[in-house]
Amino acid sequence: MEKHIKIFDTTLRDGEQTPGVNLNAKEKLMIAKKLESMGVDVIEAGFPASSVGDFEAVRTIAREVKNSTVAGLCRANQKDIDRCWEAVKEAAKPRIHTFIATSEIHMKHKLKMTKEEVKAKAIEMVKYASSLCNDVEFSAEDAYRSDKDFLVEVFGEVIKAGAKTLNIPDTVGYALPEEYFDFIKYIKDNTPGIENVDISVHCHNDLGLAVANSLAGVRAGATQVECAINGLGERAGNASLEEVVMAIKTRKGSFALDTKVVTEQIYSTSKLVSSLSGIDVQPNKAIVGANAFAHESGIHQDGVLKEKSTYEIITPESVGVIQESNIVLGKLSGKHAFSTTVKEMGIELSDEEMNEAFIKFKALADKKKNVTHKDIEAIVNNKISFEEVYKLKSFQINSGNKMVCTAAIVISKGEEEITEVAVGTGSIDAAFNGVARATGISAELKDYSIRSVSNGNDALGEVTVKIDDGQGSVIVGKAIDEDIMEASINAYINAINKKLDMGI
Ligand SMILES: [Zn+2]
Repeated sequence: MEKHIKIFDTTLRDGEQTPGVNLNAKEKLMIAKKLESMGVDVIEAGFPASSVGDFEAVRTIAREVKNSTVAGLCRANQKDIDRCWEAVKEAAKPRIHTFIATSEIHMKHKLKMTKEEVKAKAIEMVKYASSLCNDVEFSAEDAYRSDKDFLVEVFGEVIKAGAKTLNIPDTVGYALPEEYFDFIKYIKDNTPGIENVDISVHCHNDLGLAVANSLAGVRAGATQVECAINGLGERAGNASLEEVVMAIKTRKGSFALDTKVVTEQIYSTSKLVSSLSGIDVQPNKAIVGANAFAHESGIHQDGVLKEKSTYEIITPESVGVIQESNIVLGKLSGKHAFSTTVKEMGIELSDEEMNEAFIKFKALADKKKNVTHKDIEAIVNNKISFEEVYKLKSFQINSGNKMVCTAAIVISKGEEEITEVAVGTGSIDAAFNGVARATGISAELKDYSIRSVSNGNDALGEVTVKIDDGQGSVIVGKAIDEDIMEASINAYINAINKKLDMGI
């Protein structure tokens, strides 16, 4: 039997530190459930000591997730560790992940501690964390720029103190693959007791080498890879989960290893994360980009038509990308056909969610001849994950190039109906001003984008609106509709409702 590499997903922790990403607790839970069903070994759910919101989100995930280990991150101090334990302790498989920096540059400038002090702190805190939880991971922050003999010393001691996993991150994304290989190998060969624990790699993508370095780490003996969906994470991001997993799977003969990830769920997970985070996937991104399986040149197309393997090393189906021609759904399609398609796309919905999605599908199929898998994706990913205080009842826009644009907006709040009229420099501006007046909430618009979900004149438009949350980040609102004006207004209201739900 092949040995399996543990996949540690940090989309909800490091990934959530992506500039501009702000997920609420329900969205985090949706992602965690999806990661669990995809078969990741460990879900790093957040940093419980960082905020009350993050604490609550981690605790909820810990209560709900049964099959994956649920980890919380904490600095190496008792207060952080207590908070982390409080958040993860109800999990079926809880893990405390504690860290302290070990590089000269971090110890001197950031921690203002000596080597001996850092070592003593690491030992003391791993001992403490192990007294609470039998699964403790210790990370030496900025490990790659640390003195390797000092690391060997610290790692040897924290193993004795109870650590079950040692993480050796390239925090700043500085390493080259062959250097990182040597580094991991040196630590593996010289640390006493390391054969009894997991060795973990956590690589950042500042030089575009996060995946290459992670795989070099695996070759050198790492048994766990930390990664994130769509490569989200601080700055240029983390190693992308889908690339790491598919590299190991596609080149199985070379690695003689495997992961437990259900790869058919990769694409739908990527879509869910990009929809909730508001961070689009670049079209030429490996594995999950829109062009990852598109063949443009005539020579390539000809080759693929004759024999797929001429230019295709991974089948689209193996990551859950369903070929459009295999799906024919229209207004005569029943619930069974719809739910079968959703399942084929690697999307798992509860009965209630399936009913809701089917109603939306029927409404769309009434107006649109063929419902494509992109439409279905948009329907299931535009779930509302919070209370909708305000709802759009109706609107009327007057616009033209030689006139002042006006918008009349009718919004409901419970039983109450509010009508407002506003002007603006364009139709969208007028409509958003109308919503701001009706709700009494004005939020600075940071970004607005619109894209067509599928092809043709009857394609659905998906609008993404980002508003300022007043705390240096943004709140993402989304809506889909055949009418782009309606989608725009609903996306803006969606963002305002989310802002209220987050109590900001
Ligand atoms: Zn990181």
